[in-house]
Amino acid sequence: MVSNGYWFYFEPYAYVKFVEPKLLVYNTLDGNYIEYRIDSIVFEVILSKIRRCKNQPIFISSKNFILPAIQHFIKILRKIFVADFLQSENSNNKPVKINHDVFIIKNAIKDIHFIGSSSDILLSEIFEITFYINDKQIRDIYALNYPNGKYQFKFPIYNKKVEELKIETLTEIINDKQLSNLKIINIIGGDIFNYYQVEKLITLINDSEKYYNFYFHYTEIYENLIYLNKNYLYKNNYLFNIIITYPVNIQKLEAILNSDKNKNIFLKIIFIVCNENELLQASKFINIPGIKSFSILPYYNDCNILFLKKYFYFKRKKVLEKRKDFHDLIQNRLLNYNNYGKFVVLSNGDVKTNLNADAIGNIYRNSMKNLIYRAIKKDKLWYLTRDNVAPCNICNYALFCPPISNYELFLNRNNLCKKL
Ligand code: SF4
Repeated sequence: MVSNGYWFYFEPYAYVKFVEPKLLVYNTLDGNYIEYRIDSIVFEVILSKIRRCKNQPIFISSKNFILPAIQHFIKILRKIFVADFLQSENSNNKPVKINHDVFIIKNAIKDIHFIGSSSDILLSEIFEITFYINDKQIRDIYALNYPNGKYQFKFPIYNKKVEELKIETLTEIINDKQLSNLKIINIIGGDIFNYYQVEKLITLINDSEKYYNFYFHYTEIYENLIYLNKNYLYKNNYLFNIIITYPVNIQKLEAILNSDKNKNIFLKIIFIVCNENELLQASKFINIPGIKSFSILPYYNDCNILFLKKYFYFKRKKVLEKRKDFHDLIQNRLLNYNNYGKFVVLSNGDVKTNLNADAIGNIYRNSMKNLIYRAIKKDKLWYLTRDNVAPCNICNYALFCPPISNYELFLNRNNLCKKL
């Protein structure tokens, strides 16, 4: 029997996080939220207790309940339907709240960590593979990834070895029916058009139900305009991602974009920029009629951090504007969906979970099952979340931000955000 008072609780669908001095309460049903600067009385009467009892209902005495700070706090929470109270005389026993995430956590990763190394279920955990099919004809542009041993982009890769991925291995993986969730294949060079089995690769893609992304530099395709031809890839299951670096040879770029042949080809232009001038030029280029789809990516060159901060760092508050349900938040807490279920296969057969990670094995020596098992058990990149890296692990927005990206791994800094 409790004395007179109130049971206060957050609704099961409310996401609650407080890192002093602020509390964030987010309604996962409609995306409304409040950010509240924590008052010392509210902390003492409600929040410290809620924290101690893991977000279960807490008792507030009648004396504390009528305090203006408590009344105000409850009022603003009730306004967006994220919290409520019960009079204790109507509920003598402490109410039990079933937290939403208990169920979701159990289902979300299918207890994947308990799966044995020989289980076929492992094979369904691969969704995307990036193949670096060769590393021939290295040019300066391939040093795009600043040479500190890490990579900002997945393309083009700088690799001094001259090797080519065996077409038989590529075919075997792409046609493996047991990799039931493998839907996206990225093909990157070196020099794709000089791949020793380029014709067989095209046949393989034409016979395939998967989706293919090719990445190449615009100068490379300029020299191989023959491939901008619907007769080569006649299914609609691919995208040519054309990388533009500065200074741009406008003649070559226009020749590609204005080519009659590209009309039926799916092209996306990716501008790599490292200063305001290049950004300005890119924004002019996007009006060229041949460009239907584009993106602009910043390139960190060791002395342009202010440029990156000005144009590409995201505003913290903005991450709350994109609605997230509980499933999204739990997923963000458990795994890094930039990396999860993805493999990178280098031209020498080495397999990584991210270009910036160490190899977990080699495609010529290890079975796919064994590689996936290693990715789950030993490698950290699939599970690298903001919740377990500083300073994001002490930020209210950790589950709302996009997962840690190659930029962050490259810069060795996890918070590319502005406090606005
Ligand atoms: S990137 Fe990290 S520090 Fe910045 S808002 Fe997101 S979680 Fe917070």
